[in-house]
Amino acid sequence: MAIPSKMCASCGRSFEYRKKWAKNWAEVKYCSDECRRNKTKFDYRERILSELKSRPRGATIAAHEISGTDDKSADVETIKRSARLLVGSGEIEFVQNGRVVDPDTARGEVFFRLR
Ligand SMILES: [Zn+2]
Repeated sequence: MAIPSKMCASCGRSFEYRKKWAKNWAEVKYCSDECRRNKTKFDYRERILSELKSRPRGATIAAHEISGTDDKSADVETIKRSARLLVGSGEIEFVQNGRVVDPDTARGEVFFRLR
């Protein structure tokens, strides 16, 4: 039987069921204490969507281009956290070398595209 998993509401990575969650798995939202603390402290979802929607249909944008669009200059990993949540909600996809890739395992330069 497959181990149940769900998507962390903070970093957007999938995580697997652990015994310590036996009593409250249905309510578990975050993969780690760190993610629970950070929650939506670094939420770039709106910005990613607005940047993509301002471009021609089918256009991609690199994570580092998003980070350059505000004065906080969030690092690329922070942008990717928000982007993974958008993949989870079906709004965008991760693209590398013209192919859609799994946001859990994609490494290095990644591009986002509206679905
Ligand atoms: Zn997490």
